[in-house]
Amino acid sequence: MRSLPYYCRGEVVRGFGRGSKELGIPTANFPETVVDNLPGDITTGIYYGWASVGSRDVHKMVMSIGWNPYYKNIKKSMETHIIHTFKEDFYGEILSIVIVGYIRAEKSFDSLDSLITAIYSDISEAKEKLDLPEYQSMKDENFFRPIENKIMNGH
Ligand code: ADP
Ligand code: MG
Repeated sequence: MRSLPYYCRGEVVRGFGRGSKELGIPTANFPETVVDNLPGDITTGIYYGWASVGSRDVHKMVMSIGWNPYYKNIKKSMETHIIHTFKEDFYGEILSIVIVGYIRAEKSFDSLDSLITAIYSDISEAKEKLDLPEYQSMKDENFFRPIENKIMNGH
């Protein structure tokens, strides 16, 4: 995919309430405007990369780009699961991400168990891939810490 790595950020909005959190896999949703800006070659499927809430630490993430049921499946949605345990929800905060690689196409599963198993396998693949040196360098400090960098540079 030509557009990878793809850097973007946006406010965390309420999702579809599909109960991801109840499964232990909460997914932070981006607003429509962020999704609309996705380059055309970034198709639906499961991706991995780096994510940061506000100007906090950068963590590994897995992301699903799928079809948005609210728009009769003609618009995409972007849902990020950050591989980190947060003490509190962060709706309304700015989520910054970089998508660095593709894991697999979207699938439908015949049971909740097989869905959860697939997600855990996606998470372990993401963790492993992101340890590679070429991906470490994509935690670009200038992108993830814009405010701190400005202060340090005296702007
Ligand atoms: P929604 O349908 O509103 O997206 P979810 O059940 O998917 O609800 O939960 C997502 C919310 O959980 C996020 O918007 C965020 O505020 C919170 N959250 C807490 N921990 C995480 C995490 N590790 N990754 C993503 N979101 C998280
Ligand atoms: Mg969600």
